Amino acid sequence: MEWIFALAALALGAIIGSFLNVVIHRYPREESIVFPASRCPTCHQAIKPYDNVPVLSWLWLRGRCRNCRQPISLRYPLVELANGLFYLALYQRTGPTIAFLPLAALVSMTIVLIYIDAEIQMLPDVITYSGLAIGLGAAALGIAGLAPDLMLAEDWVSAVIGAVVGGGTLAALILAYWLIRKVEGMGWGDVKMIAMIGALLGFAGLPPLLLISSVTGAAVGIPLAMRHEKGMQVALPFGVFLGFGTLILLFFGRTLSSLWVQLVLPH
Ligand SMILES: [Zn+2]
Repeated sequence: MEWIFALAALALGAIIGSFLNVVIHRYPREESIVFPASRCPTCHQAIKPYDNVPVLSWLWLRGRCRNCRQPISLRYPLVELANGLFYLALYQRTGPTIAFLPLAALVSMTIVLIYIDAEIQMLPDVITYSGLAIGLGAAALGIAGLAPDLMLAEDWVSAVIGAVVGGGTLAALILAYWLIRKVEGMGWGDVKMIAMIGALLGFAGLPPLLLISSVTGAAVGIPLAMRHEKGMQVALPFGVFLGFGTLILLFFGRTLSSLWVQLVLPH
């Protein structure tokens, strides 16, 4: 029986992933998330239900629109597959408990934030604020006890401290940077996103989160800035790296921290 639930989690993730693609495509274009039904971005032909099956439709259409034969972005099947695999991985750690739902929502919201920030360098309040509320609520429900393999705030106090300290630290950095350079280095969207992540991972998740996202951000950003004529002024969507850091820490944070302890502490 267990494999049926796992398969259902994978399928649910792929279906929700299909909706995430709609949000990722339409939000930056200020289009309604609900209407009209899915259309080909090139020829605007409405997509038939049988051509809208997550991952599989893209494969049997060989990545092209049935009507205009223009290529359909690889992003569509990738987001569906990634969201499906994340739900499967979550289900393996939460089992059929209440912990699955808020965590699935937060993982999907993180994926959307990564893509929207990459495209328009913006992190929508509607996602970060809802994510913060879901994170705090989930911690208050005691989901950390239901999924001990995941890196989660231990209780609601840890979630509140994670949100306040995470958001506060970045807000202080932005203010300091602004006082020195008179430009905003990062956006207030990043502050809200760190508050959301702090509520999810807890206070203990913040130092590794900032470490992972600044190292990956620098690894991508510095070569990019060197090629760019405006030098270091090139805007880097920090939310993308925060999002990657969050997904890595949620699933591997516990393993990484025990490895760290083994390396640092004398045997
Ligand atoms: Zn088309």
